Amino acid sequence: MLKDKFTGTQLNYLVVCHRKLWLFSNGIEMERENEAVQIGKQIGDEAYGREKKEINLNNQIVLDWAEAKVGDDGVLTIHEVKKSKAVSRAHRLQMLFYLDFLRGKGVAARGVIDYPEIKQRESIELDAAGEIELQEAMQQVSVILASEEVPPRLDNLRFCSKCAYFDLCYS
Ligand code: SF4
Repeated sequence: MLKDKFTGTQLNYLVVCHRKLWLFSNGIEMERENEAVQIGKQIGDEAYGREKKEINLNNQIVLDWAEAKVGDDGVLTIHEVKKSKAVSRAHRLQMLFYLDFLRGKGVAARGVIDYPEIKQRESIELDAAGEIELQEAMQQVSVILASEEVPPRLDNLRFCSKCAYFDLCYS
């Protein structure tokens, strides 16, 4: 099945930059060294302190944290902590992927994306429209990864200057 091949990070990168998606998916990983990524993780740590956990499932999804209990309605709420809404569709797709993954494991869940710096949060449900959106996004990822050539550079310094691949793309 298509979804078994992908990770939430790839769905995120589909929106951010096709080149980044391709590089990452072909084993060129530089995220951990990037300052912007570290700052984003730090914001999550500081905003949520001891509440914050990372939960890795099958190496396909890494949840920032989940509420300890299933709610009265039998639904688990999972959270992602993000720095800004600049690529909010990327966050939404990533969350839809997580919800779909959990549904496949028999876990009913809803998603909340937390933006502590701007004191906002967004709720995400995997409804029929969300399922179609996710399926179409995974098809797009497949097409990009089927290419033997790396996609062109984004040429958007607003994103590129914060990207771990900046030196690789602009040298
Ligand atoms: S530096 Fe820019 S073009 Fe290169 S991978 Fe990052 S976002 Fe894409």
